[in-house]
Amino acid sequence: MPELPEVETTVRDLRPHLIGRTIQRAAVTWDRTVAHPAPNAFKKEIVGYTITGITRRGKYLVFALEKQPGAQLRQARDRRAAYAAQQPALDSRFLIVHLRMTGQFGFHEPRVKRDKHQHVHLLLDDGRELRFHDFRKFGRWWLVDNPEHVVGKLGPEPLDMTKREFLKRLRARRGHIKPLLLNQTFIAGVGNIYADESLWYAKIHPLRDATMLTDQEASDLYNAIRKVFRKAIGVGGTSFDATYKRINGQSGEFQEDLRVVGRAGEPCYRCETPIVKTVVGQRGTYYCPNCQTRT
Ligand SMILES: [Zn+2]
Repeated sequence: MPELPEVETTVRDLRPHLIGRTIQRAAVTWDRTVAHPAPNAFKKEIVGYTITGITRRGKYLVFALEKQPGAQLRQARDRRAAYAAQQPALDSRFLIVHLRMTGQFGFHEPRVKRDKHQHVHLLLDDGRELRFHDFRKFGRWWLVDNPEHVVGKLGPEPLDMTKREFLKRLRARRGHIKPLLLNQTFIAGVGNIYADESLWYAKIHPLRDATMLTDQEASDLYNAIRKVFRKAIGVGGTSFDATYKRINGQSGEFQEDLRVVGRAGEPCYRCETPIVKTVVGQRGTYYCPNCQTRT
């Protein structure tokens, strides 16, 4: 399941293909993939926009879209609105995509038959079709004027926040540390794999009470999260279970660096105690019962 490093890798992989491309036609073959607006409106409204930027916020991809004032549709309406507001006509919107469990982008020749797991299709002005492949169908797309409508409630980015900010936010929360790390309003982009890996590096048991962590432990956790994310981004993310592939079909390589995830019964890299798999907040959770203690 894609987490922050996989989404960041997807953003970086898409940029050279999509920046400057204009969307000429859109099709939606599984309505629920488009969360906003209604699929019929989405198909019409997105046509004519040029993709001018792609960024990541938490586990969301954010595509900046712009339409030149000279370009066909909406023109008259924009001019009137701009005149009324005494501002130059600028038609900009945002396409936001969450990959959820199995969402993937791919580029295809339009004449190649669509397969049943491809649910949104954007024909580009370079003749290729960008298709959204999503086996489990949990991925979601939004076309909005303001990205805050979708990503506004997310907590800070782990690679942008200061240690002081992390400590302050941690001190304001209760509950077990692992579910807190997975809470996207606390910190954005941490999912199941990277939460377990970070807690192992910081030697913190996933069921520790967040309020009971010492300043040193909280500091170690902050450093661990950032270290794990930087390293994972550097190798293109984790291709653990075939739900994540890079745009060119390559796998990420961070699965080679995993310290606990997927290693139940295997010796801890620090102390050689067998790694334990348990369930925390309904999520499979790996930890070392010797290095990561409850007290
Ligand atoms: Zn250990």
